[in-house]
Amino acid sequence: MDQDNHPPPVSPPPSSVGPALPIASAEPETHWVVLVVDDNPTNLDLLCSALGDRGWEILVATDGESAIEQSHYAQPHLILLDVMMPGIDGFETCRRLKADPVTAHIPVIFTTALADVERKVLGFQVGAVDYVTKPFDVLEVQARAYTHLKMQQLQGDLRASNRKLQEEIRWRKAAEEKLQAANGRLEKLATSDGLTGLANRREFDRYLHHCWQQQIRHGRHLSLLLCDVDYFKAYNDTYGHPAGDECLMAIAQALAVSARRPFDLAARYGGEEFALVLPDTQSEGALEVAGMIRDRLHHQAIPHQRSPLGIVTLSIGMATLIPSRDRPPSDLLDLADRGLYLAKQQGRDRLCDGAATVPLPPPPDPPPAPPATTAATNVNAATAP
Ligand SMILES: [Mg+2]
Repeated sequence: MDQDNHPPPVSPPPSSVGPALPIASAEPETHWVVLVVDDNPTNLDLLCSALGDRGWEILVATDGESAIEQSHYAQPHLILLDVMMPGIDGFETCRRLKADPVTAHIPVIFTTALADVERKVLGFQVGAVDYVTKPFDVLEVQARAYTHLKMQQLQGDLRASNRKLQEEIRWRKAAEEKLQAANGRLEKLATSDGLTGLANRREFDRYLHHCWQQQIRHGRHLSLLLCDVDYFKAYNDTYGHPAGDECLMAIAQALAVSARRPFDLAARYGGEEFALVLPDTQSEGALEVAGMIRDRLHHQAIPHQRSPLGIVTLSIGMATLIPSRDRPPSDLLDLADRGLYLAKQQGRDRLCDGAATVPLPPPPDPPPAPPATTAATNVNAATAP
């Protein structure tokens, strides 16, 4: 049955519609564009008057092809689509509109015969949001059109809000990442030594205290190495401060690679003094680490003409304790410092623990020949057990 064969519409003309719909009067409407598609001029006139009376811009099409074309470039907010038309019918027109991403979002209201349930269902199946029945009731057409225009507008507002929210979330995330990176850099600056990149004295103090408390809880050993560059003032006087800085960096590197476990901490204690905090390490382990540092330094063989050995060396004081609540972490520091004092006193280039001298095993590579005979005598004395 052709929908267009219905008797002429019985609804009153738009001019006599009466007062505006309460739903529309509550707020100003935006500039809405409605495309009316119908091959029957009488239906077209009626729909155009009814919808145009609401102040909406009305576009018309009399067949499916031109409806699709207009929808593409005019992007109407709503389409009223006749089912029965020459050429492609309303269902096929709707299918094509919904299959195209450019027009898929535009709501479609079918205009169909009152009793044609099958076509109403098919209309929904191909993507329509609603239908109005012929003969048209102008108020109903206006109300349904308004509802879907408003819904479309609200959905658009919601999408815009979501986009804005997503942008804000992205912006906040990026800002947070930047802040975290900046905090990380600040943290690094605050805890590291500018010259060597090792932990600074402040960080050493904090970490030693932290480890002390931790080892009290676990009842385990904590070892500390204190290292001092031998004859460093003479090195600076001989080679200049820039060379002195390079020497300190080389020593720092030897310490850093010897602190192999993630919880070992190598620090610049001050001036030409370095420290190594070794949690869960007994004296044998600390001795091994000190030996590695000494070996590395001997292997680097940084020339030092005013040292009896002819190369840069370290004196190392060592201490190992199982921390307890009745003594402070400074006890460990004092013991290591005593060991360092003994190492210096007994000839340098050696390790002493806080209680007794522990001679180091000989380095793997013999040191280069000392520059002077008097210095060689001192070396032998210094490395003798
Ligand atoms: Mg028709």
